[in-house]
Amino acid sequence: MSKQKDIDTAFFGQPRGLSTLFFTEMWERFSYYGMRAILLFYMYYAVTKGGLGMSETTAASIMSIYGSLVYLSGVVGGWLSDRVWGPRRTVFIGGVLIMFGHIALSLPFGVSALYVSIALIVAGTGLLKPNVSEMVGGLYSENDRRRDSGFSMFVFGINLGAAVAPWAVPWAANGFGLNLFHGEMNFHAGFSLAAIGMFFGLVQYVIGGRKYLSKDSLYPDDPIDKESLRPVMIWTLVGVVVLAVVLGLLAAMGQLNITNIITIITIIAIALPIYYFIMMLNSKKVTKEEHSRVLAYIPLFIAAVIFWAIEESGSVVLALFAEQRTILHIGSWHFAAANFQTLNPLFIMILTPVFVTLWDHWKNQPSAPGKFAAGLVFAGLSYAFMALPALIHGTTAGRVSPFWLVGSWFIVEIGEMLISPIGLAVTTRLAPKAFKSQMMSMWFLADAAAQAVNAQIVKFYSSSTEVPYFLTIGLVSIVFGIILMFFVKRIHGLMGGVD
Ligand code: GLU
Ligand code: ASP
Repeated sequence: MSKQKDIDTAFFGQPRGLSTLFFTEMWERFSYYGMRAILLFYMYYAVTKGGLGMSETTAASIMSIYGSLVYLSGVVGGWLSDRVWGPRRTVFIGGVLIMFGHIALSLPFGVSALYVSIALIVAGTGLLKPNVSEMVGGLYSENDRRRDSGFSMFVFGINLGAAVAPWAVPWAANGFGLNLFHGEMNFHAGFSLAAIGMFFGLVQYVIGGRKYLSKDSLYPDDPIDKESLRPVMIWTLVGVVVLAVVLGLLAAMGQLNITNIITIITIIAIALPIYYFIMMLNSKKVTKEEHSRVLAYIPLFIAAVIFWAIEESGSVVLALFAEQRTILHIGSWHFAAANFQTLNPLFIMILTPVFVTLWDHWKNQPSAPGKFAAGLVFAGLSYAFMALPALIHGTTAGRVSPFWLVGSWFIVEIGEMLISPIGLAVTTRLAPKAFKSQMMSMWFLADAAAQAVNAQIVKFYSSSTEVPYFLTIGLVSIVFGIILMFFVKRIHGLMGGVD
């Protein structure tokens, strides 16, 4: 079996199964980032303009808490795959839920369809995203050298989908350039295209999966037995009851509103990783060396949270800046505010080969904590940079050049190159044996916690507060990055041989 794995080089030197997973994730990310490119505007545009007429602050908070939930649910998705369904089936079910989530938004049912869609896509992405990545790892035997380059290609697929979608989906919402909607937006048409994208992904996943994915992926790694199921059921029940009581109390006090629900999710998203750390540090299954590695992971995790808070605000805060403060043409070339979402994945695709070459050739390159520290400084600078247009032109002067946003995204993506791929690799290597798969979910929990924090702070953003907003958050990131630099050696020491 492993011999056969070694010689399968059908997809650019990689196993053929990688092409199936590559296109599945490419289409899934196409649907996700395409939907998000227009969702913010759909929520706060007036009803007469095809939107839902929500307040801008509520819309911004929902964007962030939605992003948080999507990565939070990966914990459950990973568990279901490991112990119940196996990754193949889990990913399929996830994809179907995601497709129906986009279909819900493509129908004219207003706010209720929005919440149904969010529920479906949160559940679906939780089932799909962590497990499709795990299956990529499963394509290679323990010592197959192609694993890292396989992951790089996979990440390229993510960003390819994410880069095309902010053109295609807004284009559909604008009537395919055919003036179908008489100059108005029809957001539902855009969401339909997202649904179609996920449909393509599913079709090729089923066909390709049958041919190229291993039979092992049809079974859970560590199937659950009756005995272990009991405590899980009990704790799930306790969780549901506690949540119901909290929501019931809020309702009784007349406080059951979207703002308070968002606050509850924020608390859960921050508490969960803290709980995980405490549990791992106290677990008997964790050896002394592993214990020290978990300790080393804590500052890296905090750095990742700060980084993702800035990176993920691109689809919220920078999207608002694009819509309200940016000149939407260069010469005679006109574009939509939603199109700016292409910049993040585009810069990743451009910068990836540069950084791969850099790491290949740089002999005394910094260790992971050093790269994280530099990544935070870049992220902070990308925000500080966004304070400049208002400092130079004032906020009342109206719109500014689109190149401010281009520049800011370029800077933050340098940070992403220093944190995202490095973080993924270091997470797998710092993981205690007994917590291997949970540790992968931990990495996504950094993003979830970050967006949960964002859901609270984006409320303070508006054109009139942009200078203090960008400067304060930018400064927090830069200062944390500098502090981290002083601890690089000590953290590296705790990592016990992992570099
Ligand atoms: N933006 C990336 C994606 O959509 C990564 C998110 C993360 O690693 O937290 O896959
Ligand atoms: N940078 C994100 C992720 O890697 C993509 C995006 O935000 O569009 O893939």
